Formats: sequence, structure tokens, C-alpha cells
Amino acid sequence: MNKTVILKSRPLGMLSETNFEVVERPIPEPAAGELLVKNYFASLDPGVRKLLGEPEGYMVPTALGEVLRTNTVGRVLQSRHPDYADGDLVVGTGFLQEVSAFAPGPMTWKIDPKSRIALQSNLGILGAIGLTAYFGLLSVGQPKSGETVLVSGAAGAVGSAVGQIAKIKGCRVVGIAGGAEKTRRLIEEFRFDGAIDYKGKSAEQLTAAIREQCPQGVDVYFENVGGIQLDAALACMNWGGRIPVCGLISEYNRSVPPQPMLNLFNIVAKILRVDGFLSFTYKEEFPAALRELETWVLSGKLVYREHVENGIEAAAATFVTLFTGENRGKTIVKLAEPD
Ligand code: NDP
Repeated sequence: MNKTVILKSRPLGMLSETNFEVVERPIPEPAAGELLVKNYFASLDPGVRKLLGEPEGYMVPTALGEVLRTNTVGRVLQSRHPDYADGDLVVGTGFLQEVSAFAPGPMTWKIDPKSRIALQSNLGILGAIGLTAYFGLLSVGQPKSGETVLVSGAAGAVGSAVGQIAKIKGCRVVGIAGGAEKTRRLIEEFRFDGAIDYKGKSAEQLTAAIREQCPQGVDVYFENVGGIQLDAALACMNWGGRIPVCGLISEYNRSVPPQPMLNLFNIVAKILRVDGFLSFTYKEEFPAALRELETWVLSGKLVYREHVENGIEAAAATFVTLFTGENRGKTIVKLAEPD
């Protein structure tokens, strides 16, 4: 049998462990064009929360009783796809279960077994996380050397990579994160130039803190959070600034209407470019980006944290930490010892 995490009930507002259940399901039969994969690691991503509610945008919601979709790293037990062979190590968008069958999509590729990077990092810095930071900042945000880049969710998996890539490109980088421990980490570990603790601050106080930390204004605001952080950042943008909208995590569990935005007109007045993006649309450019990310990692220019918990039973509780801020890096659950 095959331990599987299913959606037991739809979260209303803040999700909880009780919205999920670990059940036994039969090992699936791969259809033509699919891979049967033994999963070693599964990624827990904030975006999965968007699949648990009513239909929205491009995403097909998870039905009650259905297995959660997520990115996984594992070994192909049986390939029914011409580009993959039995025994290949793969990262791909599969399911939160021990063994899953899925068709390779834009986020699926083979992992080099000789890579010096840990296997689970193909879900993080050398996977969706690193690629999101890379394309969101460089292709969407288009920072120039000497410009100021402000990042929200800055101590998290995507945000910490964004800030470091912006530093590599010669920018001044300021991050917004929750609490003293995370803001200390931004400066000491991720080498940001400035850090702002948003906890307990009103939009006006946040605006004042951004102005203090970004005396030349903000040229690129990398958005992971939304809400009052977006409103405060809008007040501080420079003429012609760019806002890559990566995610809006403060909205994902919201059960009450948002506070009114006071600075939206700056999008017009300062001719800002506000662009949503999804990393998988850059699929053709992944190989070159992954090579560059790996070079930065191996040279120590790009550091990262991973929060790996053991066993599929830990998945639901670990997923919840993404929304309480208790996660300690890219959240991953280990499902089996790699063989
Ligand atoms: P993180 O590692 O950043 O973890 C989530 C963090 O978000 C928490 O640690 C917490 O940090 C912060 N947070 C949670 N709830 C709130 C809230 N209500 N208000 C403010 N901050 C909150 O996660 P990821 O790096 O994996 O994801 C970051 C963002 O990137 C998300 O918005 C996600 O949806 C998006 N994303 C987008 C992709 C794309 O292709 N567009 C792909 C992958 C991710 P703190 O303690 O500092 O509050």
C-alpha cells in the first residue's frame, strides 16, 4: 500500500493540520506517457494552499478526498514516457504520497546523479524556488546595478534567494520579514544591506521604515506577501519602478476583507510596471538558469536554508508552518531514504 496525504476538509480562513489526512491508497498504474515514481522528498509550497479552496485562475482545485499535488524528488520505478528510463532520478510535479504516477510537466526534469548538491535541494534552490527567484527578479524585475531592491517574505525560501541574486547583480537590497531573529538572519546570513521587521507595524509605520532603509527610493519591489506590505512599498517606489508579483501569502488564509490600499494610484503616477509571473513559463530557459544557480551555490555566493521533516505523517503540520512563519527554510518532507 501507498501512504498518501489527502484533503479531508476545505480550510475556511487559516488552514490546520486537521484539514488533511494520511490514508493508504493502492500503488497507481502509470498510463501511457506517465512515470511511476518512488518519492524520496516532497515539497510543501504556499501555492498549494490556493488549490484547497474554490476554483481560481489557472488552477484546478483539489477535490475532497483527493491526494495533494506537489513537487517531488524520486526515482522512476517504471517509465511509460520516451524521454525517461526506469531508474532515472527525477524532480517533477507529482503527488504527496509514497509512490505516484504522473505525466512529466514543465517542472519535471532528470537529476544528475553525480551532482554535488543534496537531492532535496532540487525542490529548493536548484528547483522551483531558485528558478522563481531567478526569473522573477532578473526577467521580470530587471534590476540594474546600483538600484535599490526591496523584498517581502525576505527570510523565506524565495525571498532570501531573491535578495542574494540582487546583491550578485550589484544592487542595494533591503528585506522585510517577521521578527528579530529573521531580520538578523537577513543581514548576517543572507548579507542584505537592510532589514525591516513588519510585525506590529501599521502601513504608515512600515512606509516610514522603508523610507529610512531605502533613502534613494525603491526601484524593484519583489512581492511575496501583499496586503499592507504592498501598500507601504507602493508609497516608496521610484519613477519607472518594477513590481514582480511572485505571491501574496498574506491573502491565502484571509477570511476578512483586506484593508483599503491607499497608494494604488502610484502605479499610474510613477508609471510602475506590476507583473504577475509563474516560474514554469520560463521552462525553455531552465537549463541555463540552473547552471548559473549551481555555480553561485558552489562558490558560496548563494546560501539557503532547508527545513526538512521526516515521514509523510509530518507533512500537514509542516505545511501549516509556512503560514505561521515557523518554517525554518524551504519546507520539505522526507518520504523515504534514497536508494
Ligand atoms: P517561505 O519560505 O517564504 O515561507 C512563507 C513565509 O511567508 C513565512 O515564513 C512567513 O514569513 C511569511 N508569511 C506567512 N503568512 C504571512 C502573512 N499572513 N503575512 C505576512 N507574511 C506571511 O515560502 P516560499 O519562499 O516557498 O514562498 C514565498 C512566496 O512565493 C509565496 O507567496 C508563494 O506563493 C510564492 N511562490 C510563487 C511562485 C511563482 O511561480 N510565482 C513559485 C513559488 C512560490 P515571516 O515570518 O517573515 O512572516
